[in-house]
Amino acid sequence: MEQKKQVKSIPPKADDLSEWYTQVCLRAQLVDYTPVRGCIALRPYGFALWELIQAEFDRRFKATGHSNAYFPLLIPESLLVKEAEHVEGFAPEVAWVTQGGGEELTERLAIRPTSEAIIGTMYSRWIQSHRDLPVLINQWCNVMRWEKATRPFLRTLEFLWQEGHTVHASEAEAAEEVQRMLEIYREVAEDVLALPVIKGRKSENEKFAGAAATYAIEALMPDGKALQAGTSHEFGQNFSKAYDITFTDVDEKVKHAYTTSWGVSWRIIGGLIMAHGDDRGLVLPPAVAPHQVVIVPIVKTGDETVMPAARRLRDELSETARVLLDDREQSPGWKYSEWEMRGVPLRIEIGPRDVAQNSVTVVRRDLQSKTAVPLGEIAARVPALLEEIRRSMYERASAWRAAHTIEAAGHDEFVEALKRQDGFVLAPWCERAECELDIKAETSAVTRVIAGPAQPGQTCAYCGKPARVTAYFARSY
Ligand SMILES: [Zn+2]
Repeated sequence: MEQKKQVKSIPPKADDLSEWYTQVCLRAQLVDYTPVRGCIALRPYGFALWELIQAEFDRRFKATGHSNAYFPLLIPESLLVKEAEHVEGFAPEVAWVTQGGGEELTERLAIRPTSEAIIGTMYSRWIQSHRDLPVLINQWCNVMRWEKATRPFLRTLEFLWQEGHTVHASEAEAAEEVQRMLEIYREVAEDVLALPVIKGRKSENEKFAGAAATYAIEALMPDGKALQAGTSHEFGQNFSKAYDITFTDVDEKVKHAYTTSWGVSWRIIGGLIMAHGDDRGLVLPPAVAPHQVVIVPIVKTGDETVMPAARRLRDELSETARVLLDDREQSPGWKYSEWEMRGVPLRIEIGPRDVAQNSVTVVRRDLQSKTAVPLGEIAARVPALLEEIRRSMYERASAWRAAHTIEAAGHDEFVEALKRQDGFVLAPWCERAECELDIKAETSAVTRVIAGPAQPGQTCAYCGKPARVTAYFARSY
């Protein structure tokens, strides 16, 4: 009964998104708080979800020629400071190791906030000739950024992510790589996680410290804030000059290479929880749900037909889906609430009457719809149902985003829209850093991505100077 009471204590999503979010993370048993400030424990269910998301990205990285490798957690300060903008951007968030084995270190070591410095250093040793290029390496690891306020998945001191680091002979090739990886991020977000995103270049203020250009995918959350869900950076020769990554080109000349990096973290889990969840809890996209189908047997005293039928059904469905037969002692109603809280896409209820009629009841988590399906058809129906759930989750999220994206051309309209904090505001913009800072000071919103060039003659929606681009504005996580 403990669990049932907990389930009821979740506030409606629309009333208090922040509290709803925290409760879902905990009650769905994805994470728990720990005695370490700002650091969460990822519980087995949360880790299973992360592993499935990881697998979707990893498969695509490998299919585009990347290999995984691993680099040290600790980065000597002398390496970190080599790229001036980079260190300036990250310095406030770096945690330092100053002692080891009871002794003060002669040089302090950063716990990696990101790995350009150490990976760049290794690349300078590994690359000599144009024949060594491109280098296409990805690392799955933890990083640490000393944040003040924290929230599960969205902002934690230590988090899991992947960081790809590549080296190319030409700027064009590096630029192509950055777009290729950004497109993979979009594909996984939209086609796997059912999370619609906008894709584009970041403004100068919002780009990664040390990058020539940063591109990102951004999702819109139910409170109208944007969530940056993946970034891909062109470094030009900034890092190859700082870390001495050179190669002898075909023309026998020694040149600085062009590097990129791109990353996605477990933050994207926070995005899918907020975008898809409802008052009953989590709603997981089928492709990454640790259990895609849960079978709940309704066993009456004396009945001996249900459990064997449920086991046969589990074995049959296991060939095409991740299936859990919940044969614990709790009541069916208790199990329904628990699996709804934990976001399982499909629930199959099977009782004595169902067995007698050769049928089961199938309940979709996203719509809470119930359908009777003949036992003989269920195995064939499950994959199609899972795909239909993904599509309908995506369509619902897209329609919501479309309803919360407005275009604003005039100053008052623009400022009022941003102050309403209702979603994306698409507007012509001058692209000046000072203008963006003024917008932020007045409305708390910044550009999320640049959508494209402005029309000739358009003026900035905020300051009235000539517009260079159209950009999406919003507050953000
Ligand atoms: Zn302006």
